[in-house]
Amino acid sequence: MSRFEFAPMPDEQGFFGPFGGQVIPPELKLVMDEINLAYEEIRQTEEFQQELMQLFQDYVGRPSPIYHAKRLSEQLGGAQIYLKREDLNHTGAHKINHCLGEALLAKYMGKKKVIAETGAGQHGVALATACALVGIPCEIHMGQVDIEKEHPNVTKMKILGCDLVPVTQGTATLKDAVDSAFVAYMENPQDYIYAIGSVVGPHPFPKMVRDFQSIIGREARQQFQERHQQLPDVITACVGGGSNAIGLFTAFLADEPVRIVGVEPAGKGLDTDQHSATLTLGSPGELHGFKCYVLQDEAGEPLPVHSIASGLDYPGVGPQHCYLKELERVEYDTVTDQECLDAFMTLSRVEGIIPALESAHAVAWAMREARRLPRERRILVNLSGRGDKDADYVAAKLAL
Ligand SMILES: *Cc1c(COP(=O)(O)O)cnc(C)c1O
Repeated sequence: MSRFEFAPMPDEQGFFGPFGGQVIPPELKLVMDEINLAYEEIRQTEEFQQELMQLFQDYVGRPSPIYHAKRLSEQLGGAQIYLKREDLNHTGAHKINHCLGEALLAKYMGKKKVIAETGAGQHGVALATACALVGIPCEIHMGQVDIEKEHPNVTKMKILGCDLVPVTQGTATLKDAVDSAFVAYMENPQDYIYAIGSVVGPHPFPKMVRDFQSIIGREARQQFQERHQQLPDVITACVGGGSNAIGLFTAFLADEPVRIVGVEPAGKGLDTDQHSATLTLGSPGELHGFKCYVLQDEAGEPLPVHSIASGLDYPGVGPQHCYLKELERVEYDTVTDQECLDAFMTLSRVEGIIPALESAHAVAWAMREARRLPRERRILVNLSGRGDKDADYVAAKLAL
């Protein structure tokens, strides 16, 4: 099989082509450069590698299986759909992969506290879990509005022992939580470390989070080759910030014949202002300390975004995805809220797997595509998380 050659990404300044980098004040650049140096040193050590791989196996439950969704494929009458079961990980999603990496890195760097923001609480729970395990205090900033909406996650974070800081400024949602967490972090960046929840933010975070998540694709590539002596024809994943997607894609980027598709939320439609299709409809800009496609107004302010899946409503996207789009190595397509809901119910009722609404976007795209492809083709979907968190919402929405 031919292998596509890729320059090592990112470059030393953290650029993926024109995207990424560090759009931050000089004092913060010093701090980020120090994290980068420490990361590059620590990640090469046998001790760190072994500890992380052992935890992936015994704590997260890796490798996650690949499941052939036979009944679903049969019903669609086309290509075979396979699911990479990140929903079976401890805590129920892929986020634990990079949270463990970040918490371990904090430990190896001798940091005294991990600080982060959370929107819907998914990153907060995964990080609080990892910090409890590693034994490092963890402080999570969350908008008051989100705290009221996301009760189960708030309760879990408290049980896990993290210090939850309610944020009441501004709209009291994710953006204000980011600002608040940042202020707290800058009080003592020597002793604290900021743990970003996706492949976004200033260098080195897009690289580090990708590296921790790339276990998904390395496993999947090997599992597919062992089972089929072939790679999948198509691989797909949903894209919010882009961590589960780049986690699956990385191992396959050099496999030229493998078609790679990232799925963005079209929300209520691309012709409305209620979507979050950043790569599809955004334009190059800056957000949260890095260069990427942004859904922005004429003054460069991020626009309000919407998705039925709260983990996907971000007006920016990871810089490597922006570059992979530009290189035309990865295609980015969209799925609406309605298609997502249909896929959520179909997967639940035909396979007995309740997916996260985020992951249901990738399932919906695969269902659409499978119908158009012959039966011997194989589509691999990253099932990034389970849908327990969304069950009540969907049941109410569909009046079940
Ligand atoms: C947070 C989340 C996402 C979106 O984040 P990415 O960084 O784009 O992967 C997707 N799926 C699940 C289950 C999530 O919790």
